[in-house]
Amino acid sequence: MNLHPVSLVGAGPGDPELLTVRALRRIEAADVVLADDLIDPRVLALVKGRLLRVGKRGGCVSTDQHFIHALMIREARAGHRVVRLKGGDPFVFGRGGEEVDALRDAGLDVEVVSGLTSGIAGPAAVGIPVTDRRATPGVILVTGHPGEGRSEPDWAALARTGLTLVIYMGVARAADITARLLAAGLRADLPAAVVSAAHTERQRHAVTTLARLPDCIAEQRLTSPALIVVGEVAAQADAARLGALAAPPEAQVMAG
Ligand code: SAH
Repeated sequence: MNLHPVSLVGAGPGDPELLTVRALRRIEAADVVLADDLIDPRVLALVKGRLLRVGKRGGCVSTDQHFIHALMIREARAGHRVVRLKGGDPFVFGRGGEEVDALRDAGLDVEVVSGLTSGIAGPAAVGIPVTDRRATPGVILVTGHPGEGRSEPDWAALARTGLTLVIYMGVARAADITARLLAAGLRADLPAAVVSAAHTERQRHAVTTLARLPDCIAEQRLTSPALIVVGEVAAQADAARLGALAAPPEAQVMAG
């Protein structure tokens, strides 16, 4: 039988206009789409084949990863065009690497279709250029939730780099992370921003200081999915020049 490669497709952060052309083509051509929880309903609406929701939310109750692998393998062996649709970019905190390994081990071809990662596009949605050279020589993308049995990032070492920190999956542990960064010597008044549900109809954000970050998250009720940005560049969110152009009227700047 002529097997199609399975496509691991990045859906971007939300708004379907941020899909790549290739992602859109793969989604439309798929016989079956296995989609994560975080995929925007407007992207799911583009699916013409069978849609299977195989959620993974913030490390809580989720479809077993092995079950997802087995399902993809079964569908692909049945000769179906399989799209595994993942939020943002499939290779940024998405277990994409594990899924590629499982598919290749099963003798299947895999294609990875990169997407816009929320850690870059989310801050950008509220006017934060994560590597603005006037403020920093670079950016670190790091998880605030390494997962069961995985080691904690060395927050003190990250703090010493002077690079912008973009923290995925960090809101639930913001108090702990903030304490570690302050203990490592980051300034209490260093700008910090939180962008929740970026590029979706529920987008909200706040700008504050590192010391006030946990309180700000609680006061503004900023919930997952959200990115935390720590570094001088976070202060640029206030300008909201891009937010004003690209976001719907209800997504106004919220200063915390
Ligand atoms: N592969 C994804 C990340 C998956 S991990 C990507 O490249 O973006 C899930 C985490 O990503 C969430 O907990 C949150 O920190 C972040 N995230 C994903 N989509 C987001 C969005 N639209 N707005 C803000 N954060 C988002």
